[in-house]
This record gives sequence, C-alpha cells and structure tokens, in this order.
Amino acid sequence: MMVKVTHPSLYDLPSDQRMNLVNRLLSPNLFVVTQNGCHELQKCVGKGNYGRFELAKVGRTYLAHRVSYEFFKGRIPNGLIVMHYCDNPKCINPNNLSVGTIFDNNQDKAKKGRGNAPLGCKHGRSKLTESQVLEIKRLLREKSFSYGEIGKMYKVAKGTIQRIAEGRTWSHVQ
Ligand SMILES: [Zn+2]
Repeated sequence: MMVKVTHPSLYDLPSDQRMNLVNRLLSPNLFVVTQNGCHELQKCVGKGNYGRFELAKVGRTYLAHRVSYEFFKGRIPNGLIVMHYCDNPKCINPNNLSVGTIFDNNQDKAKKGRGNAPLGCKHGRSKLTESQVLEIKRLLREKSFSYGEIGKMYKVAKGTIQRIAEGRTWSHVQ
C-alpha cells in the first residue's frame, strides 16, 4: 500500500555540497515569516509551489522543505515524505513539518479544516538560544559537520561549538 518515494538526503552529500545546501537554506531573505508562523519562501519556488535547491555539481534537485527538516530535525527515514501542518508548500518552518507516509498525508488532507494551528518559530541568530543548542548537540552527535561548519551556520565561533561539544557550556541543556 505504501508508495515508495526516493528523495536524496542532505546527509548523503559530500561535506562541501552539504554546506552549499545549508548555506542556501540559511541565506538571508530566503523566506518571510507570515502571520500564522509560516516561513514562506520568496525565491527558489518551482512546481507545485515547493521550494527547490538545485545542486548542479551533483545533478540533483533538493526540495527546500525536506532540506529544512533534515537540517533542523534529522535524517528523513527512507521512503517517508515531509508533510506540512500548515498546508503551505512554500513553508520551510521546521516546526510546521513532520514526516509520514503518503497514506498519513492523505489522512491529514482529509482532516484539513479542523484548525491545527501551526506553531510559530523565528530563529534569532546573534546569540544562541536553548533550542539552537539542542540542534547543535544533535548535529554534533550525528558527526556530519565540523565545529567550524556548525559555527558558521549559527554565526558563532568554532570555539563556542567546541565548548558545547566538550560539555563546558550549556551542559544543562540535553
Ligand atoms: Zn507553514
């Protein structure tokens, strides 16, 4: 019954190409925050109103909401799709995304209109918040990015990331 979907994963890319995608995901003015908390793409929008990032070097296109999900929440299990709570295909707010099967997605569409309000979340970047530290700790556990790379993503020094990794700061956040 389950339809097989294959999408490339952020985590299967060589590190320079992975950083290329992450930089595009975090680039300024990529999205605007709408009244209901969507992070709505202003560019890179293609078929079906989904955002896409093309990696010419790899010869593949990555769906922006999937990149966002994988970056902020972790690898998408094989064959699963990323659904929008907010029903807005242009939205890349990780808090509005969840993984499921095509079957789940159809169920969700059938339920539409019951008003599951999306959660808003704006990522401030100047100073780390507790939720960012949780993300950083997850990235550290996955060992896909160097301290320097993670530092660049969150606009903090490499040493800041290293201190988190060594448990010298933020050890209360688990
Ligand atoms: Zn949304």
